[in-house]
Amino acid sequence: MNIVDLRSDTVTKPTDEMRIAMAQADVGDDVYGEDPTVIKLESLAAEMVGKEAALFVPSGTMGNQVCVMTHTQRGDEVIVEAESHIYYYEVGAMAVLSGVQARTVRGVRGVMDPDDVRKAIRDKNIHFPRTSLVTLENTHNRGGGKVLPLENMKAIYEIAKEHGLNVHLDGARIFNAQVATGIPAKEYCAYADSVMFCLSKGLAAPVGSIVAGSREFIERARKNRKMLGGGMRQAGVLAAAGIVALTKMVDRLAEDHDNAKLLAIELAKMGYGVDPDHVETNMVMVSTDPLHMDAGTLVRKMHERGVLFNAVSSSTVRLVTHKDISRDDVFRALEHFEQVIKSI
Ligand SMILES: *Cc1c(COP(=O)(O)O)cnc(C)c1O
Repeated sequence: MNIVDLRSDTVTKPTDEMRIAMAQADVGDDVYGEDPTVIKLESLAAEMVGKEAALFVPSGTMGNQVCVMTHTQRGDEVIVEAESHIYYYEVGAMAVLSGVQARTVRGVRGVMDPDDVRKAIRDKNIHFPRTSLVTLENTHNRGGGKVLPLENMKAIYEIAKEHGLNVHLDGARIFNAQVATGIPAKEYCAYADSVMFCLSKGLAAPVGSIVAGSREFIERARKNRKMLGGGMRQAGVLAAAGIVALTKMVDRLAEDHDNAKLLAIELAKMGYGVDPDHVETNMVMVSTDPLHMDAGTLVRKMHERGVLFNAVSSSTVRLVTHKDISRDDVFRALEHFEQVIKSI
């Protein structure tokens, strides 16, 4: 069976160019700061997001958590969007690893009202934890790949700075935001003190993420990465693929966005619960409510037909387009969606 895998852009396989670069990479011991390919990736990545320095980390989760740890002290409170990855999908790591607690603010498809962020910042009071960090997510995963508007990021960043707080951007898919809006990633990242982005999602590298910030921040983050077990040795074999990801794979994300839009438009015509206007990047959120079916049932029926995706709630499934999904795959998936809706 010809599988159409729309579970996540993490399933992308490295390109041939990546595999060649990996095989030929110049390497050294990166814990000693001696891997020339890692050094090259880190300086390229820092430049692309407009920061002084960057750090190559094994995963996005480690990158986010290294940043939380580097920005906070035990007992602090961190303001997070209620559906954000850092809060929803990272196994409670900020509590376990950094000893901080999360204060959630509910956004609209991931976009927080700056006033709600302001209200969530703690006053000085002997009973209260200290608020030290706000985290943002762009594009927003559970928000359906929503791009946080630049003005929204700016407003929240300014409120944070008025109160002496730092801002961390979970920019796992920040280059999807760049491609969707034409606003360079570095403009978004100007409204954050640190940023994490993934090489291993739509950019198709096999492994790895980047953390970027000031030179001083990255120096402390490097130490925390070591403590968490993320100090890697001849990591240049992985960084080599990351360099190809950043230099060759960014602009093609537009194809994934076009495919997601097409899926949304056609699914909406068939009667699935989709608003194509909500599709800004490479994700499509589909409500199964109009079908009077729960999300798990749709996942199972389509899985039997070789079309894979995940449920993200009891009545919503998420389809993610990526480099290994062609236009033909989209049409094939749509045929199965049509047959399923006709059969009920
Ligand atoms: C995937 C993802 C992460 C974590 O990346 P991993 O490499 O899977 O640990 C963090 N934030 C967002 C928004 C993500 O989508």
